[in-house]
Amino acid sequence: MGLRFYNTLTQSVEDFVPANGNEVRMYTCGPTVYNFVHIGNLRTFTFQDILRRWLQYRGYQLNHVMNITDVDDKIIRNASKEGKSLQEYTEVYTQAFLEDTGKMRLQRPERMVKATEHITEMVDAIQTLAHNGFTYESEGSTYYRISKFPEYGKLSHIHFDGMKAGARVDVDEYDKESAQDFVLWKAKKPGEVSWDTAIGDGRPGWHIECSVMAMKYLGSTLDIHAGGIDLVFPHHENEIAQSEAISGKPFAKYWLHSEHLNIDMQKMSKSLGNFYTLRDLVGMGYSPEALRYTLAAVPYRKKLNFTMEGLAGSQTSIDRLRNYKLRLETDKLGAGANAEFTKRAADALAAFETALDDDLNTAEALAAVFEYVRDTNSAMDSGAFLADNAKEALAFLEKFDAVFDVLKPSVAEGALGDAEIDAKVAERTAAKKARNFQLADQIRNELLELGVVIEDTKDGVRWKRK
Ligand code: AMP
Ligand code: ZN
Repeated sequence: MGLRFYNTLTQSVEDFVPANGNEVRMYTCGPTVYNFVHIGNLRTFTFQDILRRWLQYRGYQLNHVMNITDVDDKIIRNASKEGKSLQEYTEVYTQAFLEDTGKMRLQRPERMVKATEHITEMVDAIQTLAHNGFTYESEGSTYYRISKFPEYGKLSHIHFDGMKAGARVDVDEYDKESAQDFVLWKAKKPGEVSWDTAIGDGRPGWHIECSVMAMKYLGSTLDIHAGGIDLVFPHHENEIAQSEAISGKPFAKYWLHSEHLNIDMQKMSKSLGNFYTLRDLVGMGYSPEALRYTLAAVPYRKKLNFTMEGLAGSQTSIDRLRNYKLRLETDKLGAGANAEFTKRAADALAAFETALDDDLNTAEALAAVFEYVRDTNSAMDSGAFLADNAKEALAFLEKFDAVFDVLKPSVAEGALGDAEIDAKVAERTAAKKARNFQLADQIRNELLELGVVIEDTKDGVRWKRK
């Protein structure tokens, strides 16, 4: 069985077949840059990174667009409170987002685009919607008339019986279960940023930006559209209503949504104030890889309850894998291959791949890795595991790390210079001579964390940077 995803639109697991050969045109909703992203947001972005990497692993070529929402009510309010222009205010958080996602090792989408740089295209799209009969105006604002789009609700599978014609909202997020006409263009309010255009002086609603930027760069029908589960309704439902009313074609074939990250069984969110940022956790001494592992280890459609114990457990799992890798690189093993372990490596890789093909079942993929590591570690102790088996194991780890990307330690700022490393290595040698193996191991692990591998050879101790 090949690669399969759960599609929110059809509510079933489907084989993945993109429209054009091995090209995947994908759109994901990016951050609203009015603050630092919290680790709930990072869960959604980490899921998208795993998705990207698995598609690449399976030979697909990505064309992925992510938007940056750099104009909305909160941004305007905060920027004016701080006496900054929209651009000055959002630039800080856009850079912070790039830094944080860089530390989390999230691949950059092929294109990242800002809402404020696509106002003209949004105005054009709203004019097309008006021309096609989907809009009405009221007090200088333009609204989408959802009663004109009979398929409204097809993504969220909500039956809007109580749909009140003409009921409308100006805010970008509104109550679940209540379908209302939504705003496409908001009339300027005194003192607010605005654009003076053919459809009036004002600014775009949130939903129109994604429809416009997705279709501009990826065409009318995307292969994949993804985001957090809270975006299904109204945001993605509205994107469909807008895009399909413009193009007359299905907007996206596969809709993938990741579940929330909770803390104390509650959704982590900026408005509840119950959130951590990556910066908070790094300040407490946790590594970005530990967070990456924590977020990636739970399959994306399951809720993830975040705890500090879980985060510490992830660091332990990563250390176990790093120590195992170091052992594969440095242990003196007998020559040749033991056929039993050659088969174990192939089976483990097959189990890993099967799990990820199955709607990105990361938990099962990790289980396959750890079972193999446990068995082969004991085989190294007993001498049954040979030098060529170690090569197979390293090749497997490399495939694992192409997706999970946690094996390389983050190099701390002000990384160690050669003289400092020599001093640490000498300290370790002295500890070994004094038979203080615990200290010796500790030093070796500390160096490993900083990307330095120690090798004990018959000619003495050597070290190298990874
Ligand atoms: P925002 O910056 O609020 O537009 O959110 C950016 C992304 O993070 C969206 O895809 C949201 O669905 C997602 N998101 C927000 N809160 C959480 C959470 N607690 N867990 C997982 N994803 C979230
Ligand atoms: Zn969006």
